[in-house]
Amino acid sequence: MQLEGIHHVSSITGDAARNVDFYVRVLGMRMVKRTVNQDDPSVYHLFYADEAGSPGADMTFFEYPGARPGRAGAGMVHRVVFRVGSEAALDFWAQRLGGEGLESERDGASLRFADPEGLGLELIVDESGDPPLSASSPDIPAEHALRGFAGARTYSPAPERSAALLRDTLGFAPQGDGQRDWEVRGDQRGGFYAYDPAPEERGVPGAGTVHHIAWAAYDDDIERWNDRVTESGAHTSGLVDRFWFRSVYFREPSGVLFEIATQGPGFTSDEPLEHLGETLVLPPSFEPLREQIEGIVTPLPNPRAASSAS
Ligand code: ZN
Repeated sequence: MQLEGIHHVSSITGDAARNVDFYVRVLGMRMVKRTVNQDDPSVYHLFYADEAGSPGADMTFFEYPGARPGRAGAGMVHRVVFRVGSEAALDFWAQRLGGEGLESERDGASLRFADPEGLGLELIVDESGDPPLSASSPDIPAEHALRGFAGARTYSPAPERSAALLRDTLGFAPQGDGQRDWEVRGDQRGGFYAYDPAPEERGVPGAGTVHHIAWAAYDDDIERWNDRVTESGAHTSGLVDRFWFRSVYFREPSGVLFEIATQGPGFTSDEPLEHLGETLVLPPSFEPLREQIEGIVTPLPNPRAASSAS
């Protein structure tokens, strides 16, 4: 049983319209699902990914309108790292972000910046050999497009506390000294999970912070993953049906909320591939509330349609 790298990363936004503009128009990702939070259907859950809505490229946001800005601290993912194809792509992105008034910091084969709400992002030149997971955005030359997740970085004052769960239960492979840097790799793809020393200030969940990170599992393994994590002594949510995938949630010892999610059935189970994300989609149990929900949620722009038209 093995995990196929990162499945998705879910974060919090206080401003859904600006969030769509940044991830779709500026970063060139495709909105692959526009739905509501299954635990609070009055607010959005937005999914951005590659053209096919693949696990491995899926950045999601829970909208809490007007949420106060948060700050990453101990036990929180503080940076999400994406792959790009070359150093020329980093030059392209530095210039594009600059044109949007966003600062970025170039360091060799890496470009660090933050989204408009302060969420830490980084692009690194892809040396993984994994198939690239890209969206085709009208504004982004294909060779410079994001290629899916490289990994995620977390703050922890004591990453050794997480080592047993990562290594023995989840099958992460230690890199370097075996405490701070990990790789999780399956047959199709992999990604890294790394710890950085935590800042002194406490973390504050809020807009611009990561809520949880999900790892990709084969569909038939999800029950065994739940058993295995439970046997390790961690408390899990049990199996949760997220409609587009099935999930198990638990907290890793450094404090980060982990999810293991199945690769299927995926985002095309209720919308055709060519129309993913264009309209509000509700899980079947929420359909009776559609009229009410549509009356409450904020109207969203469709930056991709606007770009194609211009
Ligand atoms: Zn999730």
